[in-house]
Amino acid sequence: MAGESEYDYDLFVIGAGSGGVRAARMSSNYGARVAIAEGDRIGGTCVIRGCVPKKFMVYASEYAKAFETAPAYGWTIPEKPTFDLGAFLCSVQEEVSRLSGIYRRNLHNSGVEMMEERAVLEDAHTVRLTKSGKTVTADKILIAVGGRPNEPEIPGADLAMISDDVFHMTEVPKHMTIIGGGFIACEFAQVFRGLGADVCMIYRGDIVLRGFDDDVRTQVTETMKKTGIHLYTHATLDAIEEKDGRLVCTVNGGPTIETDSVLMAIGRHPWTDGLGLEAAGVELDENGAIKVDEYSRTSVDNIWAVGDVTDRLNLTPVAIREGAAFADTVFGDHEIAFNHENVAAAVFTQPPVGVVGLTEHDARQTMEVDIYRTVFRPMKNVLAGDESRTMMKLVVRRSDQVVVGCHIVGPDAPEIIQAVAIAVKAGLTKRQFDQTCAVHPTLAEELVTLREKYVPDEVHSLE
Ligand code: NDP
Repeated sequence: MAGESEYDYDLFVIGAGSGGVRAARMSSNYGARVAIAEGDRIGGTCVIRGCVPKKFMVYASEYAKAFETAPAYGWTIPEKPTFDLGAFLCSVQEEVSRLSGIYRRNLHNSGVEMMEERAVLEDAHTVRLTKSGKTVTADKILIAVGGRPNEPEIPGADLAMISDDVFHMTEVPKHMTIIGGGFIACEFAQVFRGLGADVCMIYRGDIVLRGFDDDVRTQVTETMKKTGIHLYTHATLDAIEEKDGRLVCTVNGGPTIETDSVLMAIGRHPWTDGLGLEAAGVELDENGAIKVDEYSRTSVDNIWAVGDVTDRLNLTPVAIREGAAFADTVFGDHEIAFNHENVAAAVFTQPPVGVVGLTEHDARQTMEVDIYRTVFRPMKNVLAGDESRTMMKLVVRRSDQVVVGCHIVGPDAPEIIQAVAIAVKAGLTKRQFDQTCAVHPTLAEELVTLREKYVPDEVHSLE
């Protein structure tokens, strides 16, 4: 804990998103004098323009399938249901505001001083608030400003939306074009398909979700095509033009796609522009992320950084844990570095993806593995005549039978993977999975009843 100080604050946090808020509150609870600056609404990307409103949109779009399959379960739907995006997103914004208010109250209750304007560094101990022009000093500084969507330098790029804009749309476009094949592109492609749009994706690779296990990627790609999403692979967007109230996208130097709305989802970058990092001497890596050590300390002794601005594992719970580890280490009573291994992740496609640990491909680079895999039609789908499949896969290190990876595409995969992540993080073996009695009838029971090793060459299709 810092004692008497020549500075205005013991800690100044720049950015009130998931990582910054957690670090500020915990540091203040440890007794530090803490201020936090935020140029937008309190809550950051996750709460204001990311995970939270996105998940509501996923819920909204899932109703489409529920209406479609309801008759198989004895229901009569009187007339074609309609959807009002504008009204729905107003409700979402109300909830976002409520959550932002909770973040604000929590900061206040922890004794953190809030400054609702953007802050930039003047030097390693001085921060300037850009609206009021006020400068304050702090013994320690934590940068938690997150990231921003990438925008391509192509003609007409300004005619496209970025993910932030989606949450302010007023109607579902008849035709929507999404650029990219990552988390955001896949999630929104299925959201808008579910909401009734004709959706096409323009992706420079061949199968979506690069970095995920190949079986996950194949399964998601095939499901998207089956739900009617037009996926253009090996395709690059060259330009967007406005013509007669529509947008015309030129792809691969020739063919054009006429559309009503274009969404760019081509990755995000650390938001370090104009933050004064050079003035403070904070070093960046080749991708523009703030370089940090395992304790999130930057190249400057009294400055730390957590969350997406460090581009380690860009997930909300990770930023929170990095922020907590910072507070424990710097102002608390124990030194702790957050361990980025075996962090579970989810992609809210329909059906969703849940993964933890190594992909089969990555595991095979360093060890001999046994693979257990099943592809089946979930019980609910059988009665509904829905052909979509669930895929579950365990990657097991052959030498000691430890489960080093689990990959699921199917209903409730994100919920299931949270529990599996405990087992994988704990280093449990396949035998310990097998000793666990199944819960029946569930999808997840497959994870403890997989007996046959999967031989990739024999079966490779997920049909
Ligand atoms: P991703 O990194 O997931 O995907 C970016 C996609 O855009 C990839 O398909 C990539 O292709 C493609 N791409 C990159 N650059 C270009 C380019 N110049 N031209 C054309 N295509 C390009 O980024 P997202 O924007 O989808 O999401 C950003 C991050 O936000 C995620 O990485 C994740 O950390 C976080 N996020 C997490 C979610 C969750 O937890 N469920 C949900 C949404 C976001 P290629 O595959 O060839 O590299």
